Amino acid sequence: MEKATDFIGRFNHVPLLIGNQWTGSGGNDTTPVYNPSKGQVIAHTPSGIAEDVDRAVKAAKDAFPSWAAVPAPKRADTLFHYRELLAQHMEHIAWLITLENGKTMEEARGDIRRGFEVVEFACGIAHLTKGENLGQLAAEIDGLTMREPLGVCVGISPFNFPAMVAMWMFPLAIACGNTFVLKPSEKVPLTALYLADLLVKAGLPAGVFNVVHGGREVVEALCVHPDVAAISFVGSSEIALRVYQLGTSRGKRVQAGGGAKNVHIVMPDADFDSAVRAVVGAAFGCSGQRCMAGSTLMIPNGTDAAFLQQLKEAVDQLLVGDTTGQLDVQMGPVIDGQARDRISDTIQHAVSQGAKAMSDGRTHQDTDGFFLLPTLLDEVSPDMEVFHREVFGPVLSIVHTSTLDESIRLANKLPFGNGATIYTSNGGAARKFAREMKCGMIGVNVGVPAPMAIFPFSGWNQSFYGDLHLQGTEGILFYTRQKVLLSRWDTNYERINGW
Ligand code: NAD
Repeated sequence: MEKATDFIGRFNHVPLLIGNQWTGSGGNDTTPVYNPSKGQVIAHTPSGIAEDVDRAVKAAKDAFPSWAAVPAPKRADTLFHYRELLAQHMEHIAWLITLENGKTMEEARGDIRRGFEVVEFACGIAHLTKGENLGQLAAEIDGLTMREPLGVCVGISPFNFPAMVAMWMFPLAIACGNTFVLKPSEKVPLTALYLADLLVKAGLPAGVFNVVHGGREVVEALCVHPDVAAISFVGSSEIALRVYQLGTSRGKRVQAGGGAKNVHIVMPDADFDSAVRAVVGAAFGCSGQRCMAGSTLMIPNGTDAAFLQQLKEAVDQLLVGDTTGQLDVQMGPVIDGQARDRISDTIQHAVSQGAKAMSDGRTHQDTDGFFLLPTLLDEVSPDMEVFHREVFGPVLSIVHTSTLDESIRLANKLPFGNGATIYTSNGGAARKFAREMKCGMIGVNVGVPAPMAIFPFSGWNQSFYGDLHLQGTEGILFYTRQKVLLSRWDTNYERINGW
């Protein structure tokens, strides 16, 4: 079993994977990969050029006909083998995620486990791609549907879940018989390479899965490439929309997850102990760098004082620090110095607009890593920028409202639509919330209502562009197209054959 440290040591530079061969980029520029806990550069990602994309797409295109012809149960065999390899290497992958992303080990294990569950789901591909049929739908005519793969599919992933988000995409795409080109975030390329290496070891034929690197130039080359059939993107909303427009205007299928601002409402009748635990986990887990981060807390009249006191005590006790090899740390750094400075500026701006910093994350003393402490901004109002903008860091905005109705009305003004949670012991309040919130994932006493592999990741509004979401059976529909077959056979075959 190869350790992650040995795996990284195999390469002088971050390589591309094309046709099951590790290879270099045609370009010379690179961007640094940091260990965010220490602020040290640990690798360099090639900035990539359009010619890299051409090579990878060609390998994927050449591999498509034979991979698509492999019977679905045989494709599943490769995925079962991949599942075994992932299970054996889970801890190494988690360690690699802490190294390049800065998550705690526990968060990193969650990241890979959620991806692992998608592989398990994809192992059922024969069942998942079965069609429908109606015998004798007209005289001597039978009808049935078949689902067929699309061709070369592309995945473009963000930095915050180096394993899970890429694994929302490629296990389903290749299980359906497509070939794939992954473009991971340039900030966290190593986890993707480790996942790719295990796919090769699982016996995936050359060209079925390929990896390229880079930023805008490479992403746009993928989106406009004539041999690419479908694009899965996850990242910030502005880029999600751009990718969606580039792809769909060329007739490609696109599913594009964007940014978010997820509201939590704590009702006066909630169980405060468990609500505090859930709100802290949702707001500060992964240092707030989650598209399901509970970044806005609304507290209607009656909840205020006692709950906020309990919340502040829990937040101030969180152990923040270097996550590489430190198992007791509860919150790590943010991804890089730029993110830390942007979040600090956001806190400053909110305070200048009248928010009260109950806990101020800018007081962290570490000068090497990219750290902020968890921040509580009280008395945030809907006219402040911090109310509308995704912060993507360890900052919780607290908004005082009068009623559940007012909370829902304000939450529905936000431009995003990933998740929202209510904490209550009243079924009527929970039901009203679930029905009236304009977003795709609802939690009732659940801090992060992120669905597991069998359900779609159902963003709305600026949190998702497209129709069929990532994961679950919608993922299978996205990566296949339907064919309807009508056949007429004369059952009087003996006469026809002259028997
Ligand atoms: P990002 O948008 O900066 O980058 C995402 C991907 O796009 C990366 O692979 C990156 O290399 C590429 N990219 C960067 N700039 C580009 C450009 N100008 N043109 C084309 N491609 C470009 O996002 P990030 O900072 O890596 O990730 C954080 C964002 O992702 C947050 O907004 C978060 O909410 C969102 N996110 C959304 C979901 C979801 O399911 N909706 C899940 C995870 C993260």
